[in-house]
Amino acid sequence: MRKLLVGGNWKQNGTVKFAHDFSQNVLNKAKFDANKVEVVVSPSTLHLLTAKQALQNHIQVSAQNISQYKNGAYTGELSAEMLNDAGIHWTILGHSERRHVFGESDKVVGEKVKHALAHNLKVIACIGEKLDERESGKTQVVNERQLNAIRELVNDWSNVVIAYEPVWAIGTGKTASPEQAQEVHDQLRQWLKSNVSADAANATRILYGGSVTEKNADELIAKRDVDGFLVGGAALKEGFLDIIRAAN
Ligand code: PEP
Repeated sequence: MRKLLVGGNWKQNGTVKFAHDFSQNVLNKAKFDANKVEVVVSPSTLHLLTAKQALQNHIQVSAQNISQYKNGAYTGELSAEMLNDAGIHWTILGHSERRHVFGESDKVVGEKVKHALAHNLKVIACIGEKLDERESGKTQVVNERQLNAIRELVNDWSNVVIAYEPVWAIGTGKTASPEQAQEVHDQLRQWLKSNVSADAANATRILYGGSVTEKNADELIAKRDVDGFLVGGAALKEGFLDIIRAAN
């Protein structure tokens, strides 16, 4: 059985006070079986350590992005070494906002995943199609193109979690139906089987992300190939505890 994972992506939100108080007063109250579920929250870079220090050990902390380069002259970036030094073991990579607002190519995302894994980080690698791509029947092509860019550089997927996040569902209130999510997750698992290994297909967690809330979490998690969530907006509210409960 795959351990489920519930991730919270705070994006560019919050204050030092929010990071502390929400961690201490809300997230620390989360009740879940750590043998069954992992919870990983992702504050902004500035708030990572505030959250980490306020959180009990059962909740892990993740960066939202890292540089593909080692420490050096890369103004404005965050390195894998810095996360290691701070005792932070996760990073999200390839989020659709990195791809479509900041222009990160499939190749750059692949390089970042490779670099993060080489520095012993665990990676939540995000993929997903835009609305016009879904409407023109290209969902699978786009997802596989994004995964192939990772596979070209990465052999061992044991520290990779895939987050399928259709761009049209992110922050829009339009969630993929459980059937739509299951259809894509099944395709992704088949892709892993054909392109990485049967073991990777069995073991790799595939999260769904895109307007997940406490109202739709139960029906999504009931699907066979949905192994948890990456949650944006709803991860900043108390209802996040109900999303964790749905996975537990
Ligand atoms: C996300 O940021 O990864 C996300 C899925 O956002 P939201 O839940 O707000 O759609």
